[in-house]
This record gives sequence, structure tokens and C-alpha cells, in this order.
Amino acid sequence: MIKHNYLIKQYEKTGKLRINHNYLREQFSDFRKIFEDLEKLIQDGDYTLGKPVNEFEKNFSKMINVKYAIGVNSGTDALTLSLKALDVGYGNEVITTPNTFIATVGAIVDSGAKPIFVDVREDYNINPDLIEEKITEMTRAIIPVHLTGRPADLGSIIKIADKHNLYVIEDAAQAIGAKYKGQKVGSFGITGCFSLHPLKNLNVIGDAGVITTNDHRIYDKLLKLRNHGLRDRDVCDCFGYNSRMDAIHAAIANLKLKYIDKWNKRHREIASFYIENLKESVPVERDYEEPVYHRFIIRHSIRNELQEYLLKEGIETKVHYPIPIHLQPAAKYLGYKKGDFPIAEEQANTILSIPLYPQLTIEQLDFIVNKIRNFVYK
Ligand SMILES: *Cc1c(COP(=O)(O)O)cnc(C)c1O
Repeated sequence: MIKHNYLIKQYEKTGKLRINHNYLREQFSDFRKIFEDLEKLIQDGDYTLGKPVNEFEKNFSKMINVKYAIGVNSGTDALTLSLKALDVGYGNEVITTPNTFIATVGAIVDSGAKPIFVDVREDYNINPDLIEEKITEMTRAIIPVHLTGRPADLGSIIKIADKHNLYVIEDAAQAIGAKYKGQKVGSFGITGCFSLHPLKNLNVIGDAGVITTNDHRIYDKLLKLRNHGLRDRDVCDCFGYNSRMDAIHAAIANLKLKYIDKWNKRHREIASFYIENLKESVPVERDYEEPVYHRFIIRHSIRNELQEYLLKEGIETKVHYPIPIHLQPAAKYLGYKKGDFPIAEEQANTILSIPLYPQLTIEQLDFIVNKIRNFVYK
């Protein structure tokens, strides 16, 4: 019935089924082969770049259906290096949303450019209708974030970007495998930025990221930028970063990549189960999208009480994210105030991420749904 030992132990101890929001421990239980691969890697001495990274990049580009993939240190670096490769920096503006993970905005600020926020729609993604009014002479790029694993409205965004001669950099950190009109996200923009952080759908045991692109010139630039700007061992073409993907993570990611379609399918099945059984306040899929539900978000007017109730019942939930970035202390200098992005702000007060990962059993899912319904219809 309930597969995972420690859950059963918790249950016996407390009488309550403890369901974590994440699955850090379970995710490696089926992967003993990793140790064989690592043993070989250690013997080969191929620790920086080399074969494991090349192989992973080849397989990843195939999976997203793009010409090139570049393994880097993190999803954050994927964004930072993309901006750098496109010469976006001081004096430029970059448009994104205020309800993303901090890193999207951190990368923009790090480049020297100014982040310009645009409010979102009910799918938590950028509202294309509000983009054009924010475009100025200084705007160079739009970074749509495929938040929760749901594709942003790429068709509308790319139309606007083309009209104004702007780059689109996709923040696909939460959306590996998600499709917009049948095509994988990360293949639409000049670059696609992915994270392999332990909490993402495809993950390693530390930090890693990937950039995808179809542009040969950008690919060449990124290969250099991640490795100190070196053309070869001795000649530096441009000053860059040490942002190589570690071989150890490449080996792990390469092995896990074989399962990502299966896991994403399971994510979608669980989401369907939630949507079917929770009815109100669940995501309504748009006809262009096939999400991978990195997070499954429900909404409730007394969110904090619902969260507390669920925790008491043994169900851990999270809020992604409680403070929109324009209201963060770090963003004070940008001059935004409460009320500037009403949809994102309202969502921040009502959203709740409930557990969703392939290892959840039907018993656990039933339990979660019943407890939420108990609270909602009490
Ligand atoms: C996780 C995440 C990032 C950053 O990725 P890291 O690998 O943690 O650096 C960027 N953007 C979004 C939307 C993310 O969820």
C-alpha cells in the first residue's frame, strides 16, 4: 500500500500520514546504477567538461528538439550567461514578471540591466496584453517564466518581441518537457534556461543548469562564457565565468533524462486527479498548452488557515511565492509599490502548492484530496 518506509514509521508514531511537499530522499532510491557510472567517472578522471557533459548536452538538445544545449552551473547561471551572450547590460531594460523565483530578476540585475515587471494572468504567467505599454527605447529582452511548469503564451510574446526587435529568453527552470502547441518550451526563444536543482522535475544532487539554443553564434559565445571566455587552453576571447556543469551532475542527469517523459506523464496524471477531485480553484489548462506541473497550485481566500489545517493533518504544503519581487526589500530601489501588480499580489495571498511528485501513491493522493475537501466544504 504505502510504499515508503519512513512515511509508514511516521504514521505509526503519530497516527497521521505525513506527506512531505518534496521528495528529496525518495528520488534516488531507484537509481543504484548511478554509483556504477560515478565509479567509472572517477576512474576516467574526466571531472570538468569532457565526455559526461558532452553526452548529456547531446541528449538534452535531442529531448528539447533544438540544435544545441550547453551545460552550466545552475539555472541562475543559464539566465546570467544568456543575457551576457546577448550583450544585455547597463542602460538596458528587461521585461519579466514579479511572481517568479528571485533568480530570474537576480540575473537581470546582475547583468546591469533594469528589471521591468509586467503583471500576470490567472495561469501565473506574463500577460501578453500588458507587455507593449512597458516597452521603451531601452528594452532589449523579454524573459517569460513558464511558472509551475505551465507554458507562457509564447505565440503572443514572440509576436510582440519580433515587432519591437527584442530577444525572448525563456525561463524554463520549472518547465522541462512542457509543450506549447506541441513543441517543447526552451525551443522558442533565442535561449531556453533550465535548472536541474534537486527540487526541479529533472534533478541532480546539487546545482546544475542547461541552456538551449538554435543559434550557432550564441552557442559559440556561451561555450566560451561558461569557461572563462577561453577559446582554447591559452587564449581568452572575452572575460567570462567559471560556470561549467560538473561531470558528476552530467552523469546523473544523463541517467535520469531517460525517465523524464515518464515522470512528467505521472505529474500530469496526478494533476488531472487533483483537477477532477478538487474542481474549484484548480488550474484551467489553455488549449495551447501541455504543462508538466512542477508545482500544483490551488487557491483559497483563507490560504494560511488551510495551510495550517493541512499541516495538522500531516500534509506539508508551500507557498510559491509569498512576496512578489517588486515588494522585496532588495527591489526597493526600483520604486515599485503595493498595488502596482494587483493580480500577482492577490495570487501571492491566496496560492498554495500541494504535494505533487511521481512517487505519491493513490492512497496519499486520496488522503490529500479528502482533507482539502473537508476544509473547503466544512
Ligand atoms: C529554480 C529556478 C531558477 C534558478 O535555478 P537554480 O538552478 O536554482 O539556479 C530560476 N528561475 C526559476 C523560475 C526557477 O524556478
